[in-house]
Amino acid sequence: MDNRVDAHTHLFAPAQIAARVALSERDPTFAELYADPRAKLADAPALRTALDRAGIGRAVAAGFAFASPRDLAEQAEYLLAVAAESNGAIAALPCLNLADPGWERDARRWLARGARGFGELRPGNQGWDPLGPEAIRLAHLAAESGAVLLWHVSEPLGHAYPGKRGGIGPIELAELAARAPSARMVAAHLGGGLSFYLQMPEVRRAIENIYFDTAAAFLLYDEWSVARLVDLAGPGRVLFGSDFPLLAPRRQLERILAGLPPATAPGVCGGNAATLYFGLPSE
Ligand SMILES: [Zn+2]
Repeated sequence: MDNRVDAHTHLFAPAQIAARVALSERDPTFAELYADPRAKLADAPALRTALDRAGIGRAVAAGFAFASPRDLAEQAEYLLAVAAESNGAIAALPCLNLADPGWERDARRWLARGARGFGELRPGNQGWDPLGPEAIRLAHLAAESGAVLLWHVSEPLGHAYPGKRGGIGPIELAELAARAPSARMVAAHLGGGLSFYLQMPEVRRAIENIYFDTAAAFLLYDEWSVARLVDLAGPGRVLFGSDFPLLAPRRQLERILAGLPPATAPGVCGGNAATLYFGLPSE
């Protein structure tokens, strides 16, 4: 049971949760997702409670794509402290803004203090080019350091929802991954359709470094979508993630397990993320 990992959750520092109104006034992307007081914001104790309820032992805690380096740093400090105190249960993924000239200094500093990667990256919201020189530098930094890049992938079709746009497009992500084949990247939300192209042999070879997570799967896709993704990408490249606190890990895990071939469940629901994000040996 404890081998389970929720590979996609979001935490904010308690002071940021308390500052929801002020943050919404100065950060349009934050406002789009969280200005509504009913939109949930969570700290580490809330995550721990949700994981316990679901019988999940570990989680990846990602940051939010704030515009301001100060807000990013405040959240990064919190994520790193939570991870450091977690006994290996929480992997911290602070977020970056590549439009800020100081991003690389922060990224290296946070890696030295235990960050396992960066996310959830939203180049569109922050106004940087996901195929530009800074993005290539980030991909090379990930390759050389082992950091994992978690991308909000914006699916080009379908219904609108807060935060849908502003991520990376599936085709852009494939191109970036092909340019930095040693950088490990995770395409959130089932990858926005990218998995379809894995059926083209040359594409499959070019993006062997892309993994897919299931965050918010059933807000976007039907009940069998995760099983189909496992079929297309292979059971070693799909990671269960809930998108907590938007959704409860327990219910998401139940729904995903209900649709998965039993043999693939241990990897998808924990083993793959334990290896990728926590550096544990694969089983
Ligand atoms: Zn996302």
